[in-house]
Amino acid sequence: MPEKKQFRAIKGTRDILPPDSSLWNWFEQTAREVFESYNFRDIRPPIFEETELFARSIGVETDVVGKEMYSFVASDLDQLVAWRGYISNIREIRVPDALDVFQSALSYLAVQVLQGVRAGYLPDDEPNRAIQVKLNSLGAKVSEIYVDWKRSDKFGRKQELDELVSEAATTAASIRVGDEITLRPEATASVCRSYIEHGMHTLPGNVKLYYIGPMFRRERPQKGRYRQFYQIGAEVLGQSDAPAIDAEVLEMLLVFFRRVGLTRTTLYVNSIGDKECRPQYVELLREELRKVKDELGADSQRRIETNPLRVLDSKLPQEQAIIEKLPRISDHLCDACREHFATLKYELKLRNISYEENWRLVRGLDYYTRTTFEVTAEGLGSQNAVCGGGRYDGLVELLGGPPTKGIGFAIGSDRAILSIQEGGEARALPGLSVYVAWMGAASYPAAVAIARKLREAGLSVELPPEEMKFKKSLGLADKLGARYALILGEDEVASNKFTLKRLADAEQNKLSEYELLEYLESERRG
Ligand code: AMP
Repeated sequence: MPEKKQFRAIKGTRDILPPDSSLWNWFEQTAREVFESYNFRDIRPPIFEETELFARSIGVETDVVGKEMYSFVASDLDQLVAWRGYISNIREIRVPDALDVFQSALSYLAVQVLQGVRAGYLPDDEPNRAIQVKLNSLGAKVSEIYVDWKRSDKFGRKQELDELVSEAATTAASIRVGDEITLRPEATASVCRSYIEHGMHTLPGNVKLYYIGPMFRRERPQKGRYRQFYQIGAEVLGQSDAPAIDAEVLEMLLVFFRRVGLTRTTLYVNSIGDKECRPQYVELLREELRKVKDELGADSQRRIETNPLRVLDSKLPQEQAIIEKLPRISDHLCDACREHFATLKYELKLRNISYEENWRLVRGLDYYTRTTFEVTAEGLGSQNAVCGGGRYDGLVELLGGPPTKGIGFAIGSDRAILSIQEGGEARALPGLSVYVAWMGAASYPAAVAIARKLREAGLSVELPPEEMKFKKSLGLADKLGARYALILGEDEVASNKFTLKRLADAEQNKLSEYELLEYLESERRG
């Protein structure tokens, strides 16, 4: 007997159940309607892509790529990937006993490559043969040093060993195992990959796309933060970077939010310059940060060198006063960027869009340019961002495509819906309209026929599969929240009329089939 086990959804994932799922469907359907009215069209990229696509587009230094991706390889290569990771991450060997392990790892990896080739998972080509030879010869040299140490009891030849370690790391890292894939943590990279792959730059005008679907990040779960969460995003790709595009994208976003009752929101915008002006600003910021380094936390201290812009994202209370005094990008934009930002603000005003400028709103990657924005909503606690976006004029090129301008955003549906629910503005969605309370075998065929007709007319209908006592049947209709009970017994069959009972006030009418359909359809249309 298999062990009795209670299966549960994996940590950070959840079931979206009725009636919430109706709210979700309506939310997503409204996005489709609004986005299509702005001439955006649906794109459905796959849910997993090559790991490198995300590493390159989101950036290896980000938390998303560094810590949060769900990545995997064809299972037969698991061992190889593990050993490759181990060897390519060793920087130095300090204790002689570790030599033994290192040597075994090298020969183990060589065997894994050989087996991978034999099983057809790795190409049987010159580079792979060279890798095997190299790993074996490195292993032999390590083994010599090890024997030397055992014999003389002196841990010597350190420099030689350092070189061997670094050569082994490079060799291991050069093994390409083919299918290294990742569940998408976001979809902009996929959209750009698809744009390039299908030559969309030859399409007329700007390419305007939207997507709806799940994303995956291994974050610490909390309210409004999940490991599988849902985004609705839109991207505009093409040759123009006119600020009117940015403004239209924001208008569309806010029109959508208004349509779904997400009104207690704040839009923040910023410009982060381009490759002309940002490098100087980043350098200036770095210099200023170095002066206050000792007052900053460990993360920010590290970021001074790796990515100073990200210090501006910091939420650490003790850093806030320091950050407020740092130089601001708005004072260091080049003329072209300043004009782009000024025009964007004019375009927003033209559209009656209110916003706040937030100079600390940055995206730490080189290909992000100029406009960045974020929308926060109430009722969400600390995870209050419901949408993030901006310009990424260099991304398509970075992924091997032609020079292309781009802008887009991603709405976090989980949070947006949570905020709508907490705000009490979620509208009531139509549920079950008609419960067919039939009784007696003679009325069953008529019940089946009328249920089908009402459903074809677009109504939601419940037809009990088994006969029930009349009282019980009506009780169930009530519990299911039906608006009407359609009563069908001997009398009704004999008179060729239906009894329609409105459950809210028990008002009852006898109607012919024609009258019934007329009445319910006009009700449905409101
Ligand atoms: P990002 O792609 O990080 O700019 O995120 C865009 C939006 O997706 C955010 O503003 C959030 O609303 C939402 N989001 C990001 N990560 C998560 C998560 N782990 N759980 C729920 N929503 C998320």
